[in-house]
Amino acid sequence: MIKKISLYVLLYSGIIVSSEDFGIAIHGGAGVMAGLTEDQQLRIEEKISETLIGSFKILKDGGNSLDAVEFAVSELEDSPLFNAGKGSVYNSNYVQEMDASIMYGLDRSAGAVASVKTVRNPIKLAKKVLEETEHVLLVGEGAETFAKNTGVKIVSPSYFHSEKNLLRLKKAKKITSNTIFQDKIGTVGAVAIDKKGNISAATSTGGMTNKMPGRVGDSPIIGSGTWAQNDFCGVSSTGHGEFFIKFQVAKEVCTRMEYLNQSLETSSQGIINELDEIDAKGGLIAIDKNANIFMPFNTDGMIRGSLTSKSQLTVAIY
Ligand code: ASP
Repeated sequence: MIKKISLYVLLYSGIIVSSEDFGIAIHGGAGVMAGLTEDQQLRIEEKISETLIGSFKILKDGGNSLDAVEFAVSELEDSPLFNAGKGSVYNSNYVQEMDASIMYGLDRSAGAVASVKTVRNPIKLAKKVLEETEHVLLVGEGAETFAKNTGVKIVSPSYFHSEKNLLRLKKAKKITSNTIFQDKIGTVGAVAIDKKGNISAATSTGGMTNKMPGRVGDSPIIGSGTWAQNDFCGVSSTGHGEFFIKFQVAKEVCTRMEYLNQSLETSSQGIINELDEIDAKGGLIAIDKNANIFMPFNTDGMIRGSLTSKSQLTVAIY
């Protein structure tokens, strides 16, 4: 009640222009977290918290949800703790190929890139595709050329070099019996709603260790890894991409809300349960038009966190 009165006063005095609830949720991937040390857990939790606080500030200051999700995902791309940007895993040819996508729920505008190797922040390039081209998805060489032309930061492939990720690859290829790096590092994503009620979603990944060169997962596929639709929901997925493509997971959450009148929770939990029935592993983060957040997964953990105008900062792994 007190909150309502003060909100009314602020609205009446013109200090804020909308009473919409707003907020953001982010994830750092779903999977087997069994090998995480206490120190790794702490570093992950810290990074998730600081990213949430930074992106929430954009929303609190009246910023757009598209900028908030881009900021959140690019922060996580710059961290070696996650499988995106700097921390991307290797394909079977010892090369890192990255995918990303972003979508704006107001008008369904969307941008995505796949199989890029020298773009420091694939999510920033995806946003440029959304803003500056008439296309939705650019891949490989064409995407890299567009990055150069549009001023998105290019780095040498050595920027992404990671001994830990090389060991992960060797382990996947069974070249090493090293068991130290059993911990899962994950795809990253964000969903947000701003004060104007605009919903956005974004996802970025290095894909799956030992994937075939040229393999593209769900993360850059609009409707599978990422979906945003005002008045219904925003979703970013993580998990075994091939299944998430076949089930069109991200869009399916909103579709069930729209046509079956399901709540965010019923819809997103229902899909994760169905994936579980066929042993398709993963999770998702979802936000609705009232800034409610739900983050289901069927793995033993999913790195995740949220902060909204009506709920406190929460960060969890298991
Ligand atoms: N969904 C990503 C992919 O299949 C991987 C992940 O989320 O862990 O490329």
